[in-house]
Amino acid sequence: MPQYIAPAKEIEFVLFDVLKIGDSDIPGYTDLDRELVSAVVGEVGKIGTDIFLPLNTSGDTEGCELANGLVRTPTGFKHAFQAVRDGSWGGLDMPEAYGGQGMPYIMSSIVNEIFSSCNQSLAMFQGLTHGAASAILAHGTEAQKATYLPHMVRCDWTGTMNLTEPQCGTDLGLMRTKAVPQPDGSYQVTGQKIFISAGDHDLTDNIIHLVLAKIPGGPDGIKGVSLFIAPKVLVNEDGSAGARNAVTTGKIETKMGIHGNPTCVMNYDGATGYLLGEAHKGMRAMFTMMNEARLGVGSQGIAQAEIAYQNAVYYAKDRQQGRAVNGAQHPDQPADPIIVHPDIRRALMDQKSYLEGGRALVLWGAQLIDQAHLNKDPDADGLISLITPVIKGFLTDEGYDMTVKAQQIYGGHGYIEEWGMSQYTRDARITMIYEGANGVQALDLVGRKLAQGGGQHIRAFFAIVSGFIDGHSGKDADFDKSYLTPLKTALSDLQAAAMYFMQNAAKNPNNALAGSTDFMHLFGHCCMGLMWARMGWAAQQALKSDTTDAAFHETKLTTGRYYMARRLPATGLHLQRIKSGADTIMALDAAAF
Ligand SMILES: Cc1cc2nc3c(=O)[nH]c(=O)nc-3n(C[C@H](O)[C@H](O)[C@H](O)COP(=O)(O)OP(=O)(O)OC[C@H]3O[C@@H](n4cnc5c(N)ncnc54)[C@H](O)[C@@H]3O)c2cc1C
Repeated sequence: MPQYIAPAKEIEFVLFDVLKIGDSDIPGYTDLDRELVSAVVGEVGKIGTDIFLPLNTSGDTEGCELANGLVRTPTGFKHAFQAVRDGSWGGLDMPEAYGGQGMPYIMSSIVNEIFSSCNQSLAMFQGLTHGAASAILAHGTEAQKATYLPHMVRCDWTGTMNLTEPQCGTDLGLMRTKAVPQPDGSYQVTGQKIFISAGDHDLTDNIIHLVLAKIPGGPDGIKGVSLFIAPKVLVNEDGSAGARNAVTTGKIETKMGIHGNPTCVMNYDGATGYLLGEAHKGMRAMFTMMNEARLGVGSQGIAQAEIAYQNAVYYAKDRQQGRAVNGAQHPDQPADPIIVHPDIRRALMDQKSYLEGGRALVLWGAQLIDQAHLNKDPDADGLISLITPVIKGFLTDEGYDMTVKAQQIYGGHGYIEEWGMSQYTRDARITMIYEGANGVQALDLVGRKLAQGGGQHIRAFFAIVSGFIDGHSGKDADFDKSYLTPLKTALSDLQAAAMYFMQNAAKNPNNALAGSTDFMHLFGHCCMGLMWARMGWAAQQALKSDTTDAAFHETKLTTGRYYMARRLPATGLHLQRIKSGADTIMALDAAAF
């Protein structure tokens, strides 16, 4: 069976030695001492490995089934979801007033990674519920919050997000689902939504669908979209279960991965819906939780790569093929384990350096979300809004690549379902598509976020990186050479790319859009470079002051040197591509393809 151990030490190093959450003035952060974090990670890791993980392969093989209008989840999912409920894991960062534990979002982000590593399909039920509950918390009336939140926080009811329709995915302005006002203040929702994750299932008695629809007579396009709450089972005024709403599951999709999570066609046939937030401001309501949801998907990218990596390490130490080029390392055995080969090491180092840097980036993002929300800090809000498409797009593109690298270490056995490696690549693949396809994340970054606030957020990012370089240079020759010099080059590549867009996009907007994915990756590497520099510095300081964990900190420094030397220089190639503009990309007539 696939192995997994929650990366507790890695998480604690990032939280306490790099992000220094103990020194933070964000409400709730000072309560997060090592003991508490270790207890939470330990417990979540235990549920993950004991309950979620054993159902990962079986859930993938068995999948979900639609029979008599109801979706049945794989065997064991109901019991496992009860464990989420029993531990109140769904409400970790929800207000205590609604039954939550009132912790900062950063803790929820940690739970998300661990549960997703162990079983992404199962973790999604809770993740989607969290997203829907966050929208109700941010935009609901007091009555709506009181009706839905306690159940959703406890995960007695789950939530869904209904945006996509057959003719509209990225371009939501093409939406056709209608919501017609009724005399009692409710709306009648009619239309078809597709690809709705966890649209129906047997884990809970009720499902709270959040549905985007247009109120007739409203503005055209995206400006006419509003958000509605349409429960599967209507809720009476006294809170008891009412009539079944007019929403049915048309079919469940047959798909590449996440087989344990039903992807549903949902038919709304005059279903009762209640306006959430203001009319025609549905997209604004959706966007308030977009940063959080996209960060969650970035974290899923890491999650699949993490479990794939852990198993690849095990296999690389076990599988014997060939001899080390410098002479046999295990002459008593018929061959050496494949971990002796430099090409296997390269693949493992790529994965290890991505995972540790990526996790630090996600947790920094979560800290920025907490700073923005709990301290009402507009600068943190601007910065996380800029970095969110990078976290989502870059970390999931790379995360998928890393699952493939882990699979490759198994040779042909990686392609055979029995070993589990194939499932990680299949499950990771969706993270590049949902919550906005990665090409569209890049578009959002270059077309919208870069210029937001007159470019103040990207300038703030530049200042953070150059501030780190200035503040740490000249203190340690090796750190300067291994870490700061490559980071300086990466920053200068990022600045040059931003400058290129400023100078060339006005002449021809295709110049910016043709370079958007390269820019997202250039930016992603720069963020990782910053994270590795911060981690490298923290590890070095720890080595100077305390030798208890010397091996851990030495390994950290070495892994960071690898990222800086072998991965970060990718920024140069991305810059070159960006500067080549749109000409070669757009030169062919569509008919030539
Ligand atoms: C398993 C699964 C689960 C999902 N869960 C949900 C869910 O719970 N709720 C929900 O509402 N939706 C869900 N989705 C839908 C998902 O969010 C969409 O598939 C996604 O947003 C892309 O929309 P689309 O498939 O219509 O692709 P399109 O919008 O048709 O895009 C096709 C391609 O064109 C690119 N593209 C589109 N516009 C542009 C542009 N202007 N410039 C450059 N490139 C562009 C895209 O990047 C993409 O590569 C799910 C999908 C799947 C497969």
